[in-house]
Amino acid sequence: MNWLKKTLDFGQKIKRFLKKRPSRQDIENSDWVSCCGPILKKDLENNLFVCAKCNKHHRMSCVQRFDTFFGKGNYQILNTPISNNEDPLLWKDKVAYSEKLKAAKKNTKQDCAIMVATGKINDIEVVVASANMAFLGASVSISEAEALVYAVQHAIDNNKSFINFCSGGGMRMMTSTIALNAGMVKTTLAINELKKKKLPYIVCLADPCFGGILASYASTADITLAEENCFAGFAGRKVIEGTLNEQLPLNFQSASHLLSCGFLDAEVHRKDLPEKIGLILSILLKKQSNVKMEDSGQTSENNIKTREAS
Ligand SMILES: [Zn+2]
Repeated sequence: MNWLKKTLDFGQKIKRFLKKRPSRQDIENSDWVSCCGPILKKDLENNLFVCAKCNKHHRMSCVQRFDTFFGKGNYQILNTPISNNEDPLLWKDKVAYSEKLKAAKKNTKQDCAIMVATGKINDIEVVVASANMAFLGASVSISEAEALVYAVQHAIDNNKSFINFCSGGGMRMMTSTIALNAGMVKTTLAINELKKKKLPYIVCLADPCFGGILASYASTADITLAEENCFAGFAGRKVIEGTLNEQLPLNFQSASHLLSCGFLDAEVHRKDLPEKIGLILSILLKKQSNVKMEDSGQTSENNIKTREAS
């Protein structure tokens, strides 16, 4: 039966060859990306990483997010604290978590999935946090939570508004309840401190935003926006369909559906985000000035100038 085994093995080899997918390195070295068709990476970048044909808002790194939001060179990246014990459970499945973490840092050139920057939008000082899906699915663990808490503290100390571009698969299960405590509880408490200071907190959901992220700091904003064609929810579509044993509508968990349910305040194209967020901030800050005006008798104009200058 040796001949049969040889034939089967040869068949498997052909199958593997036909199914061979490009490696991460192949994809990185290519000038093209795949969407509804092939697009030159340069063309995609020039269009803010949005497909000109199907309007898909492609995922971006944190630096690319800051570049498209503030403009290149118009912001300053803040050094957020990195935990000196990122793998307290010494987690290991097929590959040790410490190895996965090392690879993610090397591939993304980031220390953790979330980066924080500060700059001006509509001449208003803001702190912006952004997550990178390429870093372990932008899942949140100790250092990511620390980055968000640092961003909030910086906003409070410097009287700035906080804008949080939220995306990711949820809390990082390799750090279990530590991730849940840091990522959900600690960040939510930090956001509450921001609100006590009456500083605006704006969330913009970016595709995909799921799990504990949506169940904590992504759902507690004064204004919640989403990029066009973004998907967000708690459990994933397949899990819900399996639990309910029924098929869900095609637009389930899409930004347009969330908007129709009242979960979102607006669905915005990426190119319009700086203008829309700038407008929202000026309205929110003016509204607060009007409240102050009644107390102090100052004009709202003066109050806005005072606040923006402070
Ligand atoms: Zn496309």
